[in-house]
Amino acid sequence: MIEEKRKEATGVLLQNGHIVLPDRTYVGDLRIRDGIIAETGHLEPEEGERTLDCSGCYVLPGGIETHTHLQLESMGTVTADDFETGTRAALYGGTTTVLDFATQFHGESMAEGLARWHKKAENNCYIDYGFHMALTEWNADLKCEIASIVDGGISSFKIYMAYKNNMMLQEDEIYDALSETKRLGATVGFHCENGLLIDVLVKEAKARGNTLPWYHQWTRPPVFEEEAITRLETVNALLHADHYVVHLSTADGLNAALKARSSGIEVVLETCPQYLLLDNTRYGTEMSEDFEAAKYIMSPPLRDKRHQEPLWDGLAGGDIQFVGTDHCSFNYRGQKEMGLGDFSKIPNGAPGIELRLLLLYTYGVEKGRMDISRYSEVTSTNAAKYFGLYPKKGILLPGSDADIVVLDPKPEWQVTSDLLHENCDYTPYEGFYMKGSVRDVFLRGQQKIASGKLAKDVRDGQYLKRGRPLKDIM
Ligand SMILES: [Zn+2]
Repeated sequence: MIEEKRKEATGVLLQNGHIVLPDRTYVGDLRIRDGIIAETGHLEPEEGERTLDCSGCYVLPGGIETHTHLQLESMGTVTADDFETGTRAALYGGTTTVLDFATQFHGESMAEGLARWHKKAENNCYIDYGFHMALTEWNADLKCEIASIVDGGISSFKIYMAYKNNMMLQEDEIYDALSETKRLGATVGFHCENGLLIDVLVKEAKARGNTLPWYHQWTRPPVFEEEAITRLETVNALLHADHYVVHLSTADGLNAALKARSSGIEVVLETCPQYLLLDNTRYGTEMSEDFEAAKYIMSPPLRDKRHQEPLWDGLAGGDIQFVGTDHCSFNYRGQKEMGLGDFSKIPNGAPGIELRLLLLYTYGVEKGRMDISRYSEVTSTNAAKYFGLYPKKGILLPGSDADIVVLDPKPEWQVTSDLLHENCDYTPYEGFYMKGSVRDVFLRGQQKIASGKLAKDVRDGQYLKRGRPLKDIM
């Protein structure tokens, strides 16, 4: 036992891996000691030090997942994954930090919403975690509260431009909220759709008896995202406050953001694997009775395939800064089925937390769309910077937390939900060809995944108090 402890304290040497840094990749070694990265380079094992051969594998900073909804009460139910199952699945997939949306529901203070989220997460997370604070309404009390929330380590908020009467804020409120977050040096993520027009179209579809799942996307066309981004950037032309667009799903929305950027507005962009890899043929046609389409009901909806390559190009080329999954899992049986006979009652969301790194690796790096350094930026480094975690997280530097993924690029396999650890009865990526596997994962120097298996079944993920956004990611 004493011998074991001594070994743990002495650390681990990862040998002969492809060490991935922002500007280069080289074959070398990485020493973990006392939970942090001690050094990288060409290193000899020290006496008593455990070694791990990483030949032929990439050694990457642990993934940072920027967008999840774990244990979220929504549409009369609660998401299938809670913090325990969601963060375990994330860990298997190589993610070592998750940022979830703590939500202030109507009538609550932000502190009350946040306290509930702390309770859900505390002692339940396999990986480190932080919160964004999502607002569902706006008033003077909430405005006064923002400063204390920022002091609590939450430097990012979320505002919805959709879900009228439920969560949507309008431009005067957005202006007021952004004035305050700007003063405090925080950022705000925006769900960009036109909530007023969505409601009109939902009513119209239902009045005509159009209740099949296909109509979900009919009520939320791509132009609503483009329009909302343009409207948001009109506010930011006045304020120039830090802000970003969550789950960007269209080429048109990307163009609207680029147009704003060309006029000097610094808008940061997040996209998701589903908008890069899945398209609206999953909804069938307007005559499709097949309720399987409900598995893909999310907001924004899946889009026409034409949007995918521009989003990939944006991600690879630097226009889009990071990738979150919007993991919001509902079982097909019993939960998605709540919307049988009425598409507007299908809980919105899909799982994705476990496959984020490997989907991006297979379809980004292996397909030649981006190199491994850019991959590491969009899956980890940029999020660490923007969400105030850098250089503690997001990079393989001496002194950084030893949050490390050893990715073996060789295995070829096919996705099936039985292989995943998400607590959901389906995956939208069923049947997908995959290249590569997450072989080992370290969290603050502790090996959590060894040869693809859970090495220690302990939920010792820590809450991360976050600092101000760094903006050198654009
Ligand atoms: Zn979301």
